Amino acid sequence: MLVLFDIDATLLRTEGAGIRAMLAAAHELFPERTFSFDGIEVSGRLDTLIWREFMQNHGIEPTIELHGVFRRTYGEHLHRGFAGTCQSNALPGTRALVDAIHATEGVDMGIVTGNYEHTGILKVAKAGFTPDVFRFNGWADDGEHRRDLPRVAMDRHALERGLRLAAARVTVIGDTPHDIDCARHNGCRSIAVATGIHRESELAEHKPDLLLRDLGDWQSVLSWIACR
Ligand SMILES: [Mg+2]
Repeated sequence: MLVLFDIDATLLRTEGAGIRAMLAAAHELFPERTFSFDGIEVSGRLDTLIWREFMQNHGIEPTIELHGVFRRTYGEHLHRGFAGTCQSNALPGTRALVDAIHATEGVDMGIVTGNYEHTGILKVAKAGFTPDVFRFNGWADDGEHRRDLPRVAMDRHALERGLRLAAARVTVIGDTPHDIDCARHNGCRSIAVATGIHRESELAEHKPDLLLRDLGDWQSVLSWIACR
C-alpha cells in the first residue's frame, strides 16, 4: 500500500510563513514594487501556478529564468524565517500516524503537494517529521496540475519496488477538494481532513472515501487504511 500526504493544513500549519516568505522574495527581486496575494487562491494549488498568477497580477512576465531565481530566493527566505520566529506546527495525530505507518510493514509513504520540493521539505522538517520517511513523492514541479502528482509518486514507487500497485491500494490524504479530486482522477482512495479552510460539510460534497475533522484519532485512520 501507499499513503500520500498533502503538506499544508494536512500534516502541518505554517501560520502564513510560506506566503510571507514568497512576499519577501518578491520584494527582494522587485524592491520598487508593492506585492499582495489578494485575489489569488493558494489553498490546494501548485506553487508553480500560484507564482505565475502572482507575477501576472503584478504585471510581471513569469519567465522560466525569473521562476528559477524566485524559487531559490523564496527558499532562502523560508529557511531564514524558520531559523527565526516562523512556525511550522504538526497538526493533531499526524506525527503519530506517520510514525505508525513508517513502522508498518507493507505500507509505504509519500507526499503529494503543491509545494516546491525544497520548501516542502523545509516545512516538514521544521514541524518535526523526518523527511526521509516520505519516499515516493510528487511536488509542484512534477506536473502541470495536481491531478498529475499522484501518478508521479506511484510511478516512483513502481520503479523502486519493481511492482505497480493497483490504484485502489493508494490513499491520498488532504484538506481541500483539489486533494480529493486528484485522488479520484487517478483511481486512488481519499481521506479528507477539515483542518484547512474547508469545513467538513463542504468537503463532504466532494465525496471523499473517508471524511474526518482531523487526524487526532490516528489509530482509526491506520486501521481504515490497512483494512481496505
Ligand atoms: Mg493542503
